[in-house]
Amino acid sequence: MLRLSNLFLRTLRDDPADAEVPSHRLLVRAGYIRRAAPGGFSWLPIGWLTFQNVERIVREEMNAAGFQEVHFPALLPREPYEASGRWTEYGDNVFRVVDRRDADFMLAPTHEEMFTLLVKDLYSSYKDLPLSLYQIQTKFRDEARPRAGLLRGREFVMKDSYSFDIDEEGLQRSYEAHRNAYIRLFDRLGLPYVIVSAMSGAMGGSASEEFLAPIDVGEDTFVRCDGCDYAANVEAVVTPAPDPIPFDGLPPAVVHDTPDTPTIATLVDFVNAHPELRHPERDWTAADTLKNVVMMLRHPDGTSEPLAIGVPGDRDVDMKRLEAAVTPAEPSPFEEADFAAHPSLAKGYIGPGVLGTNNASGIRYLVDPRVVSGTSWITGADTAGNHVIGLVAGRDFQPDGTIEAAEVREGDPCPDGSGAPLQMARGVEIGHIFQLGRKYAEALDLTVQDESGRPVTPTMGSYGVGVSRCLAAIAEATLDDDGLCWPREIAPADVHVVIAGKEGGPQRAAAETLAAELEAAGVRVLLDDRAGVSPGVRFKDAELIGVPTIAIVGRGLADETNPTIEVKDRRSGDRVDVPLAEATAHLIETCRS
Ligand code: ATP
Ligand code: MG
Repeated sequence: MLRLSNLFLRTLRDDPADAEVPSHRLLVRAGYIRRAAPGGFSWLPIGWLTFQNVERIVREEMNAAGFQEVHFPALLPREPYEASGRWTEYGDNVFRVVDRRDADFMLAPTHEEMFTLLVKDLYSSYKDLPLSLYQIQTKFRDEARPRAGLLRGREFVMKDSYSFDIDEEGLQRSYEAHRNAYIRLFDRLGLPYVIVSAMSGAMGGSASEEFLAPIDVGEDTFVRCDGCDYAANVEAVVTPAPDPIPFDGLPPAVVHDTPDTPTIATLVDFVNAHPELRHPERDWTAADTLKNVVMMLRHPDGTSEPLAIGVPGDRDVDMKRLEAAVTPAEPSPFEEADFAAHPSLAKGYIGPGVLGTNNASGIRYLVDPRVVSGTSWITGADTAGNHVIGLVAGRDFQPDGTIEAAEVREGDPCPDGSGAPLQMARGVEIGHIFQLGRKYAEALDLTVQDESGRPVTPTMGSYGVGVSRCLAAIAEATLDDDGLCWPREIAPADVHVVIAGKEGGPQRAAAETLAAELEAAGVRVLLDDRAGVSPGVRFKDAELIGVPTIAIVGRGLADETNPTIEVKDRRSGDRVDVPLAEATAHLIETCRS
């Protein structure tokens, strides 16, 4: 039994100054966690119990699916990560350490390499496969923006699984098995989630889906189609490209003097305001313009390269989509010094005329998939104050390729056939499953013998759940104005018994008896037996801590003919008076249903 009189916990009236999101504020205020470092948290007793509940559910569902638990160190040697290329690919995102003999180590951001090596160590035949292993382990990532408490830590707990199969069908089956286990596990965790198509990022590989909890403070944006079951992280949205248009008969491109039009808005106003530049039938819009944005790409090996991106002028470049498209390289804005080093770029008037590896700037030029051959654009003419009208893709310029970097907008047509408008929402990535393929097995030389004794390279899947992040996501999805509000399986206790009577009154003894009986029946009890604390403070703390059932042993006890206690449902706020004699049975029933 947890007793508030001696529990290592202090609830706080005020929000911590550094907490940006409600779950972080409440987990600190209710005494679950304390900040230890930027992106690092210490767990207090009720926080750790809650964490262990999440971890237990994750473990039970992994075991039920037949996956076997192992455990790796978090301190990992350099060599395997060198072999896979990730020692450099991870760049600044990984914590690196050096031992007393000057050997390099890293604090594990994820464990693909180690699992691959472990299987290589022990297995040698196709008969040993399929195999799925997992661990629940602390990961370290030097996140650029540690924020939102446990939602994005620099040290956090992940459940990571890896599957090993001999062929594609096997991988598909292992992937499905993990997907189904994740569905069961997130259903049990009691938080809403959406399964969306995803990019596999730095892990490499192909088929990939994310489990997102739709929460406004989430950093991921996803789209859902009204007309079909398409759902995708915006990073993974593939823009439907229109068919190419024949350019016979299109008028030649003409350069015009368009002074003081460095932005799309000023340009559109200008061309609409000048009769000789007007569109023959309608007003020009930003969608008629081609905006060219130059970025600097920093590669993991430290080299840099400029990249020009052409998008329809009514859309911005979405940095997260761009980052996903160019990973492991990292994009950053072009600086003044970069412009100085590329004098063919006329800032504010950059056009395809100088872009592309065969042109004056020599800068690689990738365009939005909507910029298909035969589309005609108003765009920069590469000298200050000048634009060109009617520049036709495929006729007047040849990009080096396409890139998915333009923002996705609510109402965009669904790429998956139906064409119905897309809905947009924010979410937190709580799980990620993907088919890695043979990247790691090849890099680390994992082979097994097939039926005819020939060596074959297994194909792998990798599957993660953010255990500590899930706890915060559950808090976020369930909290209310008064505090945390846990699903029963997650909560640190089933019943929060509040003693609300005068010191020396009958309430204390009755509450002690009730708590002991509940405990004996296997109900987890948190008893507020503190001395000298007002009922008001006790009620507020009970709401804040968020145990699903609150039992108040108070005034009702004074009724000599029918002494009662009050049972309150933390979520609905519903209250019922229950005769003291039936209280234990009533609460046991409540906790079981
Ligand atoms: P994100 O895009 O949020 O940075 P990720 O795609 O880099 O996450 P994965 O490599 O797919 O993360 O890791 C598997 C799971 O680990 C994620 O789905 C997420 O739940 C969790 N996770 C990742 N980074 C963090 C973090 N900094 N803090 C807490 N949990 C995390
Ligand atoms: Mg991910």
